[in-house]
Amino acid sequence: MKYFALFGNPVSHSISPRLHNIALQGLGQRGVYGRILLEQGGDIITKFKKYNLTGANITIPFKESILADCDELDSIAADIGSINTLVSKKGKIKGYNTDAPGFMMAIAEFGKIDKALILGAGGTAKALSYILHTNGIEIEILNRSDKRAEFINYNFNTYSNFKVSNYDLVINTTSAGLCGDDLPCDEIVLREILSNSKFAFDVIYNRQTPFLRIANDMGLKIKDGKDMLLYQAVLAFNLFYDNKFDDSKITKLMRGAFEL
Ligand code: NDP
Repeated sequence: MKYFALFGNPVSHSISPRLHNIALQGLGQRGVYGRILLEQGGDIITKFKKYNLTGANITIPFKESILADCDELDSIAADIGSINTLVSKKGKIKGYNTDAPGFMMAIAEFGKIDKALILGAGGTAKALSYILHTNGIEIEILNRSDKRAEFINYNFNTYSNFKVSNYDLVINTTSAGLCGDDLPCDEIVLREILSNSKFAFDVIYNRQTPFLRIANDMGLKIKDGKDMLLYQAVLAFNLFYDNKFDDSKITKLMRGAFEL
């Protein structure tokens, strides 16, 4: 029997257990995936060992603080500075980031992207800017505040110095729209941005955000964060099993979990 879990705070809203348990069952594996609510990120490795876990996922707010506690880091996770997956290998715990490659899989259907604008500069923006940059895509960042110095090499803008140019893709990584009618930036500026873009992507997945609604009304091809969530889970699941399964098989099983 293998045990897996999601660590975070909050964790009650997450559909990760549903995604992983349906894949475990569908692939005939003896395993169970649960959720562990934590007050402090410092407890993750202790709890991972105490519950004899084979693998785990990490969500807010521990994705960055867990880095220092891992025995080993995958190179993408180390470069991004954020981890969402832990795997136990021969007694050592290795950290991975599957959010970034999961995002690239989710935008594949847009076709060739040369330039992208990222709205927001938090943890998710960090993972996305890294993976877009390493895939040769030119990026600009627009954030409401200038407190994120790590983005300085990525054409970082705040509202006061931003000038709209042409983009293939605009991505909302802010929490604006998670609930309520907030937009990631001023509506006039947003409409100008979108009128110079082809595709709009929102990392939020449980509703159509006001950002995506406007983009849709303006005729852009839109996509929410559901597939990003799905693919990060597919990649994490396969890491738990040393990549022995077909990604497409796991994807098919996990996709069904969204309908439950
Ligand atoms: P962070 O808290 O690290 O960053 C949030 C960013 O949004 C910051 O840049 C912040 O600006 C900006 N922001 C917050 N509120 C507003 C607002 N009202 N208007 C404009 N900007 C705002 O969050 P994360 O990067 O960890 O998560 C962001 C979103 O991504 C969440 O909604 C999360 O659920 C989603 N997510 C989805 C995933 C998926 O698989 N689909 C995976 C991971 C995350 P400032 O710097 O000024 O504070």
